[in-house]
Amino acid sequence: MTQFTDFGLAQPVLRALEEAGYKTPTPIQAQALRPAMEGRDLCGIAQTGTGKTAAFALPILHRLAQNPRKAIRRGCRVLVLSPTRELANQIAESFSDYGRHLSFTNTVVFGGVTISRQEKALANGVDILVATPGRLMDLIERRSLTLEAVEILVLDEADQMLDLGFIHALKRIVKMLPKERQSLFFSATMPKNIAGLADQYLRDPVQVAVTPVATTAERVTQEVIFAHTGAKQALLGHILRDPKIERVLVFTRTKHGADRVVRGLEKVGVPASAIHGNKSQPQRERALAAFKDGSCRVLVATDIAARGIDVEAVSHVINYDLPNVPESYVHRIGRTARAGANGLAISFCNDEEKAYLRDIERTTRQKIPVAPFPEGFTPPSRQEAMDAAQAEERRPAPQGQRPGQRQGQRPGGSRPGGGRPGQGRGGDGGRGGQGAPARSARPEGAGRSQEARGDRRQGAPQETRSEPRSDNRQRTPRPQGAGPGEGRAIGWLDRSPRS
Ligand code: AMP
Repeated sequence: MTQFTDFGLAQPVLRALEEAGYKTPTPIQAQALRPAMEGRDLCGIAQTGTGKTAAFALPILHRLAQNPRKAIRRGCRVLVLSPTRELANQIAESFSDYGRHLSFTNTVVFGGVTISRQEKALANGVDILVATPGRLMDLIERRSLTLEAVEILVLDEADQMLDLGFIHALKRIVKMLPKERQSLFFSATMPKNIAGLADQYLRDPVQVAVTPVATTAERVTQEVIFAHTGAKQALLGHILRDPKIERVLVFTRTKHGADRVVRGLEKVGVPASAIHGNKSQPQRERALAAFKDGSCRVLVATDIAARGIDVEAVSHVINYDLPNVPESYVHRIGRTARAGANGLAISFCNDEEKAYLRDIERTTRQKIPVAPFPEGFTPPSRQEAMDAAQAEERRPAPQGQRPGQRQGQRPGGSRPGGGRPGQGRGGDGGRGGQGAPARSARPEGAGRSQEARGDRRQGAPQETRSEPRSDNRQRTPRPQGAGPGEGRAIGWLDRSPRS
């Protein structure tokens, strides 16, 4: 079997891998390492959890080590674009981990935090810059950053980047890069628009893939339970009372929906926490840490907040709302059945969401088996559900909500997002989330700059809300000794090259 030692990686990189306990490359790494080390462009289809970060970080560190050179002032040698700050942080940490025996600098920049610290960190140039597109553009516009000396570009989670409306920023960024560069492109799914982008930006790329386009993780058992909107909360509470459900991620389409689900669970004695764009960075970190160490077994998340989160042993994924973008379904259920374990993904589907279900089944080319209500569960009547929903709506508006703005979910389940289910990918109506008024689903407090760029998508505040961080600059080697993932075996998906 191929080992990391077979690739001729720079010694300091190999040492870091050894310390992390990684001997064998994952399938995506085995495919990507050699061409990327040679400087080839790469188009990779891989989800988080497959080892894709190392698949680009290792060859990049190797190439930097082969050709050490000082970064220009306000410039960087490697630019990694990430759609979310969580993922950006994780990527930067991976570079620090794998580059701990090298002296390259890496900095992560994203919105929602003081820009001046980031400007300071960039002033003398950095070797590796990990950035979200919005903040990157802000820094360029303020002339605190130049991309003229970028040697390697990584575009991570390209599909998510497009879903979040970063396409314009992305196009502008790529235009500013030197033509002579290496580009590494990763996406969990490869719909036509992403493939088109890859064609445009990559030169004779090597194609690597660990999961076929839009297929779902094979070890995930999937089922759908038909339930009207008002029955969903009780159903969730009932399911989660089963202690066999050890670590469960519950997905909702909207941030308020996530908060509502947490409140509903707390009422029936199931502790849970929510993670979404309206939570501050420390709140998110706390929620994630509690979920990781097992002190809180239920994490309720929106799609965007959950991206890039690498948590082992998620036994169940529950789609409280079905996503209106089929690819999101693939991402969501990919959160379970990792680390070689089996996972169960349960989706709740009301009448309005049946169109989403059909879209998902068409995209994944499989029928999701329908399951009955669990034993002992009696759904509340529609009237009971409506009364409960109305009581919920009378709650004071959560912080940041505009006066008079409704919280979203309508009693009895009226049309999701005010639009027709299955309306397609782009429109606000189809994206607003269950019951969320199409326009007012626009995140409160979302960044002006994103608004200006026409980013109308729910979840966009990823870049805009966070507590100020201390200096974003990280210098390798890091003081902490822990290697990435502590050498755990990861549950990558079957290798199946793109046709
Ligand atoms: P990623 O898909 O990049 O988010 O990586 C998923 C997890 O796998 C991370 O915790 C990595 O540290 C870990 N990992 C990456 N490469 C390997 C490897 N070759 N062997 C074992 N674990 C790995």
